[in-house]
Amino acid sequence: MTAVTVYSAGLVVPITAPPIVDGAVAVREGRIMHVGEREWVLRSLSERGIDADEVHWPGMLTPGLVNAHTHLQYTGMASVGRGQYDGFDDWVRAFDPVYEGGRDWAADAADGAAQALRSGTTAVADVVTDRAAATALHDARLHGITYWEVMSWTNADWARTGRTQVEQALDALPTPPGTGLSPHAPYSLDIEPLLEIPDIVRERGGRIHIHLGEAAFESEFAHEHPQAWHTAGLASFQELRKAGFGTSATEFVDQLGVLGPDCHIAHGVYMSARDRAILRERRTTVALCPRSNAVIGLEEPPIAAYLREGSPIAVGTDSLSSSPSLDVLADVAELARIARSQGYTDRDLHARLLGAATLGGAHAMGIDVGPDRTGYLAVGALADLTFFDVPAGPDAVAELVEHGAGRTAATIVSGEVRFAIDSFDRAAVTLETGGVS
Ligand SMILES: [Zn+2]
Repeated sequence: MTAVTVYSAGLVVPITAPPIVDGAVAVREGRIMHVGEREWVLRSLSERGIDADEVHWPGMLTPGLVNAHTHLQYTGMASVGRGQYDGFDDWVRAFDPVYEGGRDWAADAADGAAQALRSGTTAVADVVTDRAAATALHDARLHGITYWEVMSWTNADWARTGRTQVEQALDALPTPPGTGLSPHAPYSLDIEPLLEIPDIVRERGGRIHIHLGEAAFESEFAHEHPQAWHTAGLASFQELRKAGFGTSATEFVDQLGVLGPDCHIAHGVYMSARDRAILRERRTTVALCPRSNAVIGLEEPPIAAYLREGSPIAVGTDSLSSSPSLDVLADVAELARIARSQGYTDRDLHARLLGAATLGGAHAMGIDVGPDRTGYLAVGALADLTFFDVPAGPDAVAELVEHGAGRTAATIVSGEVRFAIDSFDRAAVTLETGGVS
């Protein structure tokens, strides 16, 4: 008989079901076989004659956190991330010389993966620019998607060599995890690659991820010929702007077929109500990265509007080149603060933000469905679990959302303990449950 482990906790938050006081998750072969009240889980195992070990933690147990936007290879660029910038161009001026100096991208990405595990993260949307960093998720046995980043191709170079190079790079990414392409941004590629990248990915059943609404100049402005740009023979978003078109970057990539349920975007800061409606219509999730926005000197993302309008949202840390840490809960706390400052007063705020940081991120990458589903606690899903040193009281979810950063007690990926603090090892009493009736 295969070993079963019961992870019980003072409060279990499945996300797709109400929180369970004195709950438990039974795990076998890396997957969840039961979720419910501890007594029921133990009894049902006993009734079926299944022996199990129990690990009990008095605090909280949630699905593993999902970091829906980062670049693990920039983990060694924290010197840039510690700065404070005056907008996107200012930050790029600080980023470029450090990047061009080169680093051991493989080692930095591996360090980033280790930091993610320590902060309770079990799945990551990782954007890779240099081949050496492409194995980070695979090597760390983290879930998520490795996205090969594509930028700076002109239409002519793309047709000559770009498409072939990108297809080769995509096909060379190690699996698992899943793979995809990240066309960097609407303004850093000409139109032809933006048109063809989604097709390259979709032919293979992969995923798409793009920075969108991160720079103020992506916003729409009033212009005289609202729909006519795509018949004007223009080569890029910049040419559109030079020709006087005020089309937003979101509308631009939407017209090119980039958006859809297999695509998620990063940042979504400079988004009008119309842009946000386009995202909803396309079932495209936005990964919010508020601490990165603050470092770069951008405005705050319209989180209250996203919540009120029912947009699919997720949470990302971005990389250490623009953020203080890879702890998703630090961005969650910032989102809670921003939502309130924008007038969001509904009582569902904490539950929805925790949902965004787990199931929302899994949904953004399409890993919330299928045989290897994750992001929530339910029978048959991968046993991706995170324990927190947060007391299991009535305000536990609020406490986790507002002050959860740095309080990961243990991280389990596919049923395997990948990180645990000393007090988790000590407090985790192992019990034989065979005699429970
Ligand atoms: Zn980014």
